[in-house]
Amino acid sequence: MTTATTVPTGYAKELRLIIGGASITAEQRRSIAVHDPATGAEIGRLPIATDDDLRDALASTQRGFARWRATSAYDRAVVLRNAARLIRERVDAIGRILTLEQGKPLLESKLELQATADIFEWCGEEGRRAYGRVVPGRSESVRQTVLREPVGPVASFTPWNFPAITPGRKLAGALGAGCSIIIKPSEETPATALALFDALRDAGLPEDVVNVVFGDPPHISQTLLASPVIRKISFTGSIAVGKHLARLAADGMKRATLELGGHAPVIVSDKADLNRAVKMSVSAKFRNAGQVCVSPSRFFVHERIEKQFTEAFAAAASSLRVGHGLEEKTQMGSLANERRRDAIHELVLDASKRGGTLHTGGSPLDTPGFFYAPTVFSDVPGDARVLNDEPFGPIAVITPFRELSEAIARANALPYGLAAYAFTQDVAESIELGNRIEAGMIGINQFGIAFAELPFGGVKESGYGSEGGIEGLDGYLITKTVTVA
Ligand code: NAD
Repeated sequence: MTTATTVPTGYAKELRLIIGGASITAEQRRSIAVHDPATGAEIGRLPIATDDDLRDALASTQRGFARWRATSAYDRAVVLRNAARLIRERVDAIGRILTLEQGKPLLESKLELQATADIFEWCGEEGRRAYGRVVPGRSESVRQTVLREPVGPVASFTPWNFPAITPGRKLAGALGAGCSIIIKPSEETPATALALFDALRDAGLPEDVVNVVFGDPPHISQTLLASPVIRKISFTGSIAVGKHLARLAADGMKRATLELGGHAPVIVSDKADLNRAVKMSVSAKFRNAGQVCVSPSRFFVHERIEKQFTEAFAAAASSLRVGHGLEEKTQMGSLANERRRDAIHELVLDASKRGGTLHTGGSPLDTPGFFYAPTVFSDVPGDARVLNDEPFGPIAVITPFRELSEAIARANALPYGLAAYAFTQDVAESIELGNRIEAGMIGINQFGIAFAELPFGGVKESGYGSEGGIEGLDGYLITKTVTVA
């Protein structure tokens, strides 16, 4: 395991609010610092929206909605496709910005941007298929139609772990359906979302259709959700904040799509291809330093192969090259902020105190920035915090099981239900796992569950609604029955 020392720069030239098509810079407002989490250095100043700015954004989004809903789905798709092309063309520059503000390796940033471009394209095309239907009437002279229309202006809030994909899903979903949107990306990773806005603007998006604001998240969500202008909210983040926003949405009877936390189980049967399971699990676990809502975090491994699995997993984890995301050889970057590093260390101390066996890692790295060593535990009791709280970091816990039904019961025991994974080459086991695991997304013999064409969303406390797939569009549409005699 190694860490980088020298860091090239190349962050966004100017951080800004976008309100009514105008840019408001950090010189014009109170501002806060944005940091490179791999060094702790300040890399930019972000302006904070005033209450007047929020009022202006609401008025703008109302104008934007009138304009965008009147734009044909065909023309909306052209804008989204062009924006996708521009994101692909700019992938090197935006990728660098993403890595500098978030910490993940440059390759991961570029892959995230390619996936974001895919989402723009998919949503543009899917908007062209927002079909209604004709329902037979009770007399020949009656025509009954069911129309699908955009729900209205959307308020959306996105986190710092995927600074391109999470704003991308919300922007593209709303725009594809014909909605305007006010987006509040994370204040910790603002420049990537602004780069997506630039791509949309350069692709021909009219003024007022997208507003971008930053500031105090609770104040902004409270203000926007209190306005009758906003008809839908979309949030990605923690369960606690999701529940709070669901309550605010209920007060105004607004639609809500909530993509919240998870604690994904991985069940490794004794009928699995062990090498494949280890290799894929290590790569999925430490992607984005584990700060992924669908990150595998609880490994239940059949007792016959548990020791072998743990040794191989820990060996692979300890050989990962940890460093600045812009260093070419880096395989895992820093955590995105100090809160995450400290939270992971708390979980580690708790697991150790309760008798867990530490195989590798277990401490922050003694360097500037918020690095934490890839960490692997076994023998952790079921009531340890790491097996109950979403870890959201580079920590894996491996637990043996004897019967598949026992592993499924353990997998389902938590209130989360976002992603789950399993490895087995037995068809009957695959079917049983697919049927009985309580999760919105299940990957068997692989971790590929999140693509533009697939619905992405959770069950239980992991939230409701989907982004992506044909289901994604649905959240931005209302259904209207029109009968004519
Ligand atoms: P947090 O829960 O306070 O913040 C998560 C995100 O929500 C941030 O982007 C923040 O700006 C936003 N937010 C917070 N309060 C808000 C409000 N009242 N209105 C609107 N937006 C609000 O804390 P955090 O330290 O950033 O993250 C803590 C935990 O959140 C993580 O450990 C993880 O479990 C979860 N999380 C989940 C995801 C995900 O993809 N589902 C992403 C980031 C964080």
